[in-house]
Amino acid sequence: MSTAMQNYIDEAEKALLHTYNRYQIVFEKGDGVYLYDTDGKRYLDFVSGIAVFALGYNNKEYNDALKEQIDKIIHTSNYYYNLPAIEAAKKIKQISGMDRVFFTNSGAEAIEGAIKTARKYAYLKDGNTDHEIIAMNHSFHGRTMGALSVTGNPHYREAFEPMIGNIKFADLNDFDSVLAQVTDKTCAIIFETVQGEGGIYPATEEFMRKVRRLCDERDILMILDEIQCGMGRTGEMFAWQRYDIKPDVMTMAKALGCGVPVGAFAMTEKVGAHSLAAGDHGTTYGGNPLACAAVCKVIELFEQLHVLDNVQRVGDYLGQRLDELAAEYDCVETRRGIGMMQGLVFDRPVGDIIVNAMDKGLVLINAGTHIIRFVPSLVITEENVDDMITILRKSIQEVCRSTQA
Ligand SMILES: *Cc1c(COP(=O)(O)O)cnc(C)c1O
Repeated sequence: MSTAMQNYIDEAEKALLHTYNRYQIVFEKGDGVYLYDTDGKRYLDFVSGIAVFALGYNNKEYNDALKEQIDKIIHTSNYYYNLPAIEAAKKIKQISGMDRVFFTNSGAEAIEGAIKTARKYAYLKDGNTDHEIIAMNHSFHGRTMGALSVTGNPHYREAFEPMIGNIKFADLNDFDSVLAQVTDKTCAIIFETVQGEGGIYPATEEFMRKVRRLCDERDILMILDEIQCGMGRTGEMFAWQRYDIKPDVMTMAKALGCGVPVGAFAMTEKVGAHSLAAGDHGTTYGGNPLACAAVCKVIELFEQLHVLDNVQRVGDYLGQRLDELAAEYDCVETRRGIGMMQGLVFDRPVGDIIVNAMDKGLVLINAGTHIIRFVPSLVITEENVDDMITILRKSIQEVCRSTQA
């Protein structure tokens, strides 16, 4: 590393609150599937800002759309209508089959909105204020107090107790564990269609179907968190569209704006008509013209570039190539995931492998301690996958050989 980059890092550590143990690298620009650090070194990126930059970096049409919007207007207020928000909401309805959309600035805020929606929906039915929500162990829904309260990782929650009340936890894909938590007060069941941070665990078809039926029978809202697995990552626009069900409420963010901070929660007409009403919820920035111009262009480009086809084809290929590594190396236990949301499970912590790969010009990220997660831009090619595998194979050989499990 150059002294210049070391200086940047030293300055960062004096000014930023130390809430991340960051990799020792300063990125300056991106182009396509490549990132460049301040020394000009190029990296193949299989993280895409954690499932954000779905279209790759520096997409000209996307950049131009943002510049054009900046020259018109960046922000007004949600007390007025604006054109990009109208268009973005219509487009989200089209791709999701939901009926009502609320724009947020982040994933966590979309989760907050979904929780408020569920509580209000139940409140309007019986006037009570003691409703319960069932969430999943090993889930991740964000760092604000409400989102943290439904995040099934005690380590993230402990120092910040008490959480919001009446949250119960069950296990993803264990329907009986959900059933055991259901009471007359249950107002919602929330989970990620594919658990991301928790280690890349897709919900099974059977689990989805049974939860859907339970929710129908008891008028409980089924909330699916599509913040990471949505926006084309599994080869469908939203991962739940792979199953023969539809949620009552869903959340999205990450790739929704491809780098401009924007999220949303969306719901069916029925939930929309019987939950949040005027004065119940708001945001200053959420759905501002700049953010929504990004959403509009992202959804347009998804169609133009046939992103879903690419994810289905190259995602399958990525899965195959990772399966080869799992078969080849003892330290690799298995591969799981769908499309371009994949995890490679190791018999040891993966930090050293990730740092080794980074030295060789490949950016990867973990999900939990023992899993390398692959959430690249959705426009990668088979050749990009081959290049990634070549580097990762070298890193596995070097690190697994020299360390014990
Ligand atoms: C990233 C993530 C969130 C939180 O989104 P932020 O924009 O970081 O607040 C919530 N749910 C899932 C599944 C995520 O992956």
